[in-house]
Amino acid sequence: MAFDIEMIKKVYDNLDAKVNAARKVVNKPLTLTEKILYAHLWDGEASTAYERGKSYVDFAPDRVAMQDATAQMALLQFMQAGRPQVAVPSTVHCDHLIQAKEGADKDLATANNQNKEVYEFLSSVSNKYGIGFWKPGAGIIHQVVLENYAFPGGMMIGTDSHTVNAGGLGMVAIGVGGADACDVMAGLAWELKFPKLIGVKLTGKLSGWTSAKDVILKVAGILTVKGGTGAIVEYFGEGANSLSCTGKGTICNMGAEIGATTSIFGYDAKMADYLRGTGRADVAAMADKVAAHLTGDAEVYANPEQYFDQVIEINLSELEPHINGPFTPDLAWPLSKFAAAVKEAGWPAKLEVGLIGSCTNSSYEDITRAASIAQQAVDKNLVAKSEFTITPGSEQVRYTVERDGYLKIFENMGGVVLANACGPCIGQWARHGAEKQEKNSIITSFNRNFAKRADGNPNTHSFVASPEIVTAMAIAGDLTFNPATDTLTNSKGEQVKLDEPKGIELPIKGFAVEDAGYQAPAEDGSKVQVLVSETSDRLQLLEPFKAWEGTDLSGLKLLIKAKGKCTTDHISMAGPWLKFRGHLDNISNNMLIGAINFFNEKADSVKNQLTGEYGSVPATQRAYKAANIGSIVVGDENYGEGSSREHAAMEPRHLGVRAILVKSFARIHETNLKKQGMLALTFANPADYDKIQEDDTIDIIGLTSFAANKPLSIVLNHADGSKDEISVNHTYNEQQIEWFKAGGALNIIRASVK
Ligand code: SF4
Repeated sequence: MAFDIEMIKKVYDNLDAKVNAARKVVNKPLTLTEKILYAHLWDGEASTAYERGKSYVDFAPDRVAMQDATAQMALLQFMQAGRPQVAVPSTVHCDHLIQAKEGADKDLATANNQNKEVYEFLSSVSNKYGIGFWKPGAGIIHQVVLENYAFPGGMMIGTDSHTVNAGGLGMVAIGVGGADACDVMAGLAWELKFPKLIGVKLTGKLSGWTSAKDVILKVAGILTVKGGTGAIVEYFGEGANSLSCTGKGTICNMGAEIGATTSIFGYDAKMADYLRGTGRADVAAMADKVAAHLTGDAEVYANPEQYFDQVIEINLSELEPHINGPFTPDLAWPLSKFAAAVKEAGWPAKLEVGLIGSCTNSSYEDITRAASIAQQAVDKNLVAKSEFTITPGSEQVRYTVERDGYLKIFENMGGVVLANACGPCIGQWARHGAEKQEKNSIITSFNRNFAKRADGNPNTHSFVASPEIVTAMAIAGDLTFNPATDTLTNSKGEQVKLDEPKGIELPIKGFAVEDAGYQAPAEDGSKVQVLVSETSDRLQLLEPFKAWEGTDLSGLKLLIKAKGKCTTDHISMAGPWLKFRGHLDNISNNMLIGAINFFNEKADSVKNQLTGEYGSVPATQRAYKAANIGSIVVGDENYGEGSSREHAAMEPRHLGVRAILVKSFARIHETNLKKQGMLALTFANPADYDKIQEDDTIDIIGLTSFAANKPLSIVLNHADGSKDEISVNHTYNEQQIEWFKAGGALNIIRASVK
């Protein structure tokens, strides 16, 4: 932690000069987001004002956080960069690989056994390169970061989309691919398009069944899964100051679901309380001294329309609890309208399972509010009708809520406490009967609810709500139940009503933990051996990708024209594939197997143009690779939305796909493709998507004069001999064009280190 305190001190010592320099160039009052971004310029103090949504800017993040699934590839890449130690404080968190099956202790023991070689690799590589290592069972990355590392005014990148959670503690925290993390750990700048700014003014105060989760569920309904793209969402107003720090974290966490670059709240008394409550009174004291720079200027918040690109206002006093879903997190239903929606749409009203916890909602406050509902099940002679699980966010929270008697309450209600890990939230859920693919409903306090995410069953209708609403629904076992208005029949035949939830923001006796699960790195890692077996099917040292051949690309085959939603889950599925995250060749066998082929409406069935036969996407692509033929993937809107995994970019690169051509990209995925030396292109005219035919052979023209802001051309050679020439756009800047030419960013980093 000493490393951290020194780093935070340095950020705060320079803040005044940097914000003042920004003030001069921007020449008007500053939002909080601008203050933090300008304070983290790679080139020091601001000398120019950047254009939102246009300028590409190099930043110097303060720290890096990695979860175990993505850390494997990030660190395999970092090892290739040739540095002795990471350049900024960095941590690894073992949370994604623990499968939920029987309960915390047994599941953790199984994970330690099954993932032994991965954990040994991550532990040893962390030890060698000066990286803090959080062992399996220590908790979920974003909760652990919030409790230990996030600080107001800081900038962090993390190899997980929900890195944005740390915005709840006033940090610009952004989810990136492992390649970006590798750059920053290697001491290089990190580039971001200067974001647009969305201001969300919160007035009023939460009450009753409404919680912080409902703020973001409402915002998701307003902005949709694309509405935050390219923007940072800054929350302010008296309502913002009334929310607990962890509540703010929940709101920022799910900002990933609207595609926002990140979300942020200004430093306030609630954040100071949380810092002190989590053993960081020293950070709170330092933040207090520079508090004026850790929030937006008063003029900005008085007239937000003049300073933000878009402003949304939400009155917390009027906000209803929300339930979002199914299949997408932006289908927002106020609680009072949800039952009718369930009936009208014919979604299964019987609720099978309620799941609380995850990085989104596993704070002390969340657990105590949900427990206040669970306790009523026991007190009012109600028998919970649905199964119920709890995933605590960290060992510190778990230990504390157990000490304070809350876990016992859930157990009394029939709940099962799972390991402090992602579990069902990332498909690590051995759900009994899921393989039958029956239509059913579940409700979670997680953030994502895309088809198949939790249990692999495409017919599981997954809904998202606050932990207290999930708990109430699990007791009722019925999605048409409205806990705010309806009664339930108890075991004595009486009609009983659930009282509103009550929670405690921070534990009265303070947080406690016996073993938080942290391993500090070696002082001198030069002698530490990184453990990777040559025969492993889970870890594989990387080989550099080949450089561009210096010509236009011709004769590419269409691999797949993906129809509709194509998230990184569709491109590189999670669940059972997670175990191959460190082995590029093996995990490539999941490439695009979830994407729907436009021509036959099937998943994982594409035409092999060499044989005319239909086969799986990876097998077809391997056939093209074996024949030394490149290929192209075509996609729809917001291609690559979802998680930050760079495997979704590395797999096509590894298997010989040369370009991804879509109507629009999700930001992180587009950057990941560029890092890997792929071509990420968009239709200049989205209607040209319709011109792509199943047997097309495709040429990409203009690469020999590839330049920023200059469109390329694509020739579609149709099977009947006709041709279409279309214009395609790209967002490569000069440096990214060099990545393309060198065959990937890592090839350039290695050359620069030597
Ligand atoms: S969103 Fe789910 S899978 Fe991702 S870090 Fe949070 S708990 Fe884990």
